[in-house]
Amino acid sequence: MKLILFGDIQNWNAALNLLQTYRKDVFIVGLSSLDLGQFADSPVTYTLKETANLYHEHQIDGVINIQGENPYYFNLIKELGINDIYIIPSTLYRRLELSESIEDDPIIYPYLDVAPELMQIEFHLADHCNLNCKGCSHFSNLVPSPVFPDKEQFQHDLQQLASYFSQIHNFYLLGGEPLLNPEIGEYITAVRNTFPYTQIIIVTNGLLLLSLKEKLIQTIKENRVHISISDYTCLDREKIIAFVQAHALSAELREGKECFSKYLNPHGDSDPNEIFPNCIRRNCTFLAKGKMAACCQPFVIHYFNDYFNENIPEEEGIDLYEPGLDGWEIQKRLITPMNSCRYCSADVPFGWAASKAPYDSNDWCVK
Ligand code: SF4
Ligand code: SF4
Repeated sequence: MKLILFGDIQNWNAALNLLQTYRKDVFIVGLSSLDLGQFADSPVTYTLKETANLYHEHQIDGVINIQGENPYYFNLIKELGINDIYIIPSTLYRRLELSESIEDDPIIYPYLDVAPELMQIEFHLADHCNLNCKGCSHFSNLVPSPVFPDKEQFQHDLQQLASYFSQIHNFYLLGGEPLLNPEIGEYITAVRNTFPYTQIIIVTNGLLLLSLKEKLIQTIKENRVHISISDYTCLDREKIIAFVQAHALSAELREGKECFSKYLNPHGDSDPNEIFPNCIRRNCTFLAKGKMAACCQPFVIHYFNDYFNENIPEEEGIDLYEPGLDGWEIQKRLITPMNSCRYCSADVPFGWAASKAPYDSNDWCVK
């Protein structure tokens, strides 16, 4: 079988190594990418148009798309009339990292034979927070009393997600402050049991990190959970670093990455087709109460509406239990602007600061 490998340049080598090791019968004719960069003049690289020509001239049998989590690439390839599209599931790389055998695996699959991959999903373990950041984009400082998710609903939703997606690359457990949830260990094991190869990431402000109980630390380590700590100025960095090292946790202090911005437009007169493609939150796929959306806004904006007496749309999203739904359809809808996007505007960044009640809507609104 003669194929062209299509995808981001930085992923070429890993895919080639995998194929050369486990699928010696597959001949890779060349490499393709939307941006061939420094390799544009190489005799083994092809633009997507050239790749399509080779396919229509029967010089190749198809294309391996190594951007399996992105429906945009599949659509591009299909639009060029290439019907034989294959993928290398990303779980294979994770299995190798975990020293699992993949000897009996076909390595490449016709892309319609496997469920699509999802790049990431976010889930709130608590809507509320023990910090009070100005303009919190999850509106946690406007949550009037503690709000935890329904664990049973979450478990059902996980099963539903597993029926739609072969893999979720990154599963973010956040909030609010996720460490406020006393059942966090059960949420971690539920995710790990359903998605053995996903990267589970707890996103925390770190204030409760030093008081983690030994049992939870074990659960975190056993389930290969990474901890991403927002490096706000109120943190005792030295103590956090010492704690992480002492317990050999997989963790990062996200230095300088805390970029706050306001972007709401309660008038609802923005053009979603203009706002959505430029929105930095449009890939923060969010799960809540049996629904998914491109970002958290539809599920948490009610805190803003209630506090400021506004009417930004709530509960918009994809119903995971809709009859006939599949992962490809979900992927398609996730890259389609939402009605909620009418109520967003271009970001106006500002530096991190603590806030306190009574809150000012100008912390979130640009109009
Ligand atoms: S720590 Fe995060 S969730 Fe909590 S108020 Fe600040 S930005 Fe919001
Ligand atoms: S509602 Fe749309 S524009 Fe607003 S943050 Fe979410 S994805 Fe971005």
